[in-house]
Amino acid sequence: MNIESLYKEAGALLEGHFILSSQNHSNRYLQSAKVLEDPKRAELLAKELANMIIASGIEVDTVCAPALGGVLAGYELARALNARSIFVERKEGKMELRRGFEIAQNEKIIICEDIITTGGSAMEASDVIRSLGGQIVAFAALANRGFCQREGSGQPSKRECKLPHDVPLFALADFEFDMYVPDACPLCAQGSSAIKPGSRG
Ligand code: ZN
Repeated sequence: MNIESLYKEAGALLEGHFILSSQNHSNRYLQSAKVLEDPKRAELLAKELANMIIASGIEVDTVCAPALGGVLAGYELARALNARSIFVERKEGKMELRRGFEIAQNEKIIICEDIITTGGSAMEASDVIRSLGGQIVAFAALANRGFCQREGSGQPSKRECKLPHDVPLFALADFEFDMYVPDACPLCAQGSSAIKPGSRG
């Protein structure tokens, strides 16, 4: 499966001039929600990810996603793994398990995101699950921005990566972009202005 062309076809891999969440500028942008717009494509991607996890021999009881971004990917991954699907969400800025979801002692849990950048939200979700007695057996994401090393890749984690080194990260592909600090952005120098796709209506 060629993940990059699948993202392109879905309109999820944009080319132009963008402001990333880090405030850096880039010529590419991943609009992850677009790739999950088609439930059949979402199912296909999640199955591929589930196969990697199953092949590794890791046992999973539950997939937990940080809301909102991870929820659809987490739900589809849970379906493909025949696991339970839950999510954590922010309340007044703090990640919490709500809505009656419960965690059993030592329950084997995967934290799933649509995209892992530095892994900040995934780590917050992981902290919540651990504080409730759950065990984090892996992290998973459809797309990896290349800051954290994923299973099967020779590319080591960069210092920005917040995920622990002793828990595996499964992802379908690395999407590494050229990034520029705004003051030294060649696209800005050419006179174009950057847009922030995430915040457009
Ligand atoms: Zn720029």
